[in-house]
Amino acid sequence: MVKHRKLLIVIILAFSTGVISERFSSYIFTNPDRIIFLSVGQGDCTLFQCGPYNVLVDTGPAGENNSIANRLLIPSLREYGVHSIDLLFITHPDYDHMGGLKMLNKRYSIQNIVLGDAFKNSSKMHNFLKEANIDSSKIIWLNSRSKFHLRDVLVDVVQPKEMIPFQMNSTNDNSLCINILDGRSSAILTGDASCVVELYMLNNLPGWSADVLKAGHHGSRYSTSSKFLDAYHPKYVVFSCGVNNSYNHPHPRVQDIVKKRGISIQRTDSKKNIEFRASDTGFVLD
Ligand SMILES: [Zn+2]
Repeated sequence: MVKHRKLLIVIILAFSTGVISERFSSYIFTNPDRIIFLSVGQGDCTLFQCGPYNVLVDTGPAGENNSIANRLLIPSLREYGVHSIDLLFITHPDYDHMGGLKMLNKRYSIQNIVLGDAFKNSSKMHNFLKEANIDSSKIIWLNSRSKFHLRDVLVDVVQPKEMIPFQMNSTNDNSLCINILDGRSSAILTGDASCVVELYMLNNLPGWSADVLKAGHHGSRYSTSSKFLDAYHPKYVVFSCGVNNSYNHPHPRVQDIVKKRGISIQRTDSKKNIEFRASDTGFVLD
């Protein structure tokens, strides 16, 4: 336990300074055991389990009377043996990405919540945090691209505003983008960012890779371009979307360009939770 606490303190310090460097590479986190795309209706929630630690990216929506959080999110976390959340990244303050925060915070101890400072003055963000009764001392506002090494695992987090030479007003395009790499297995999550952001990522993030790519914006026609797929050539593309959702996600054009490349399509609406296990050949479907 002491070892675990020490690790978290190191992470907190690293985030607080906005600079995560190689000197933290000796800290303990085993290879990523698994990454699970939770079925939370029309929304996003991804669980990354690394040794005894649980990293969550987004919480999904709450649903009517918290039905989604209570019937899908919490039971799934229980199923995967989650007792507390070590790190929670919120990509952006939209309901389908952070609506479940209130129930999550009621049921689980959340150690650290990582938010992009593009949203530091967002009333929407602050309303979600207030509603969920989040202790502000747990919040880490990222003010730059941040990398941290957890022994073999690198989690590289980028705020698009760091890469794009013009101001973006779109909440979606300011989504935190995350690459998880352990040298063999890798995944990219881009929240609801559009093709504009993807293009800048390609030009500015040459080291990124993905066995598993979560399609941007639930498979919207404005995300997951051919160029993006050809640059990362993932083995799997995950669409995180609700059954018969009113947005028609994933868009047929996006499904087509994925299929044409022989990439395996995985959908949270038809398959429920989608679980990948780290292996010597990259993430494999469990
Ligand atoms: Zn969304």
